[in-house]
Amino acid sequence: MQFSDFAFAEPINRAIAEMGYSLPTPIQAQAIPVVLQGEDVMGAAQTGTGKTAGFALPILQRLMVHANASVSPARHPVRALMLAPTRELADQIYVNVRDYAKYTPLRVAVVFGGVDIKPQLASLRQGCEILIATPGRLLDHIEQKSVTLTQVQALVLDEADRMLDMGFLPDIHRIIRLLPLERQNLMFSATFSPEIRKLAETFLRNPKLIEVARRNALADNVEQTVYRVSSDDQKRSAVSYLLKERGLSQVIVFTNTKIGASRLARDLAREGLSADAIHGDKSQQDRLTTLEGFKQGRVSVLVATDVAARGLDIAELPAVINFDLPYSPEDYVHRIGRTGRAGASGVALSLMTQSDERYLTEIEKLTKRKFEIKELALPTIHDTPVYASNTASQAIRVPRQRPQYEASARKLPGYSTDPFFFRPYEPSDIAPLTSALGGATEAVHEHIVKPSISALRKPARPLAALLGGKR
Ligand code: AMP
Repeated sequence: MQFSDFAFAEPINRAIAEMGYSLPTPIQAQAIPVVLQGEDVMGAAQTGTGKTAGFALPILQRLMVHANASVSPARHPVRALMLAPTRELADQIYVNVRDYAKYTPLRVAVVFGGVDIKPQLASLRQGCEILIATPGRLLDHIEQKSVTLTQVQALVLDEADRMLDMGFLPDIHRIIRLLPLERQNLMFSATFSPEIRKLAETFLRNPKLIEVARRNALADNVEQTVYRVSSDDQKRSAVSYLLKERGLSQVIVFTNTKIGASRLARDLAREGLSADAIHGDKSQQDRLTTLEGFKQGRVSVLVATDVAARGLDIAELPAVINFDLPYSPEDYVHRIGRTGRAGASGVALSLMTQSDERYLTEIEKLTKRKFEIKELALPTIHDTPVYASNTASQAIRVPRQRPQYEASARKLPGYSTDPFFFRPYEPSDIAPLTSALGGATEAVHEHIVKPSISALRKPARPLAALLGGKR
């Protein structure tokens, strides 16, 4: 299948060519024709699969009939609304959609919390056919009457599972009630809990189910090692030891809590590493600056919580370290999916204390593999020598020296044509998506659900639990 098969308008094709996309990715091949038909979609696809273009390109095409060069904001009402759980994801979608729309007269805007609302008011006042938003900030704008949603024809709910985790469900219901009943709905989620199923039943109409790549598959080209450490205190020494031992130059270290992320980044920075943390308590500006620094190589260790890291599109990532094993085994798959792409070999190292063992059991159950566990015995006091071994009883002495991370860095080659995109569809062998939705077993099928909008009570504004915690 080629992009030319979709018969996009010339300005859209020009943008696709400029982005360097030669072939549609599997999710694009499946989703684009369905979205072009105006049908609802329930998609199981993660970031990194090309899902943004999968929904954005056909929506742009459908909006081309409204494209006009008028300067009047009234001629540019919001016609497509794309909701994302985090500021980073919203911004990422915005950057992509803006690029796809750049040769069309369609206007694109983004609003998210944590930054000054005034510049957003100005951009909304100019009018935009496509609005990307986080739910809370969108409601702020609605209350301030800086945006109306009465012309919305298409609603996209991206990373719906994460939205629910973050407590956005009441906001989502409030927003949905403000939209015209007659509209197209697309929902993407990496997991299919009963809550997600219920949400899908609330607003999707006869959705086409689209699933790409095995949901819980782990790449074969990623070395996955679990290190047992004796205590939480040892984990910090273990991170700096592994960074040095493995010569890792660009690594995301995952923690389960915001406080843990801040503390670890601070400790690593004290050791002379260029480390920084990204989590929900940081200002939007701080998060974007840290992320940019990481992408540019100025920050070599990015300590992140799952929510903050979710959706980040970072190419060429040689390694991830799980400082904490995630509470949810699916988060493990998300984390590991960030490395070893494009056929490059990746490294995923996990630290585990005895009390974490139950999380490993869950991960092994989900991924259907048994992990090799190595012992890592390290002293907790920073200035004492570091010991490492495959068995606790035979610890080898490792001379301590100032790490030369950059000098020993392994740079993995970049990629432009990621084979991941071209891997054939592999149906999930665990809890198939379709059965999760109570339907038949085909990967793509129709599922009839009753459209219903829930009660009109104004719900309390949620507090987003931005930190790996609340589940
Ligand atoms: P997404 O999953 O939408 O975040 O996309 C992940 C990355 O893949 C982004 O950097 C996109 O620009 C890129 N991408 C999307 N579609 C294609 C394509 N057909 N060919 C090559 N790269 C793509």
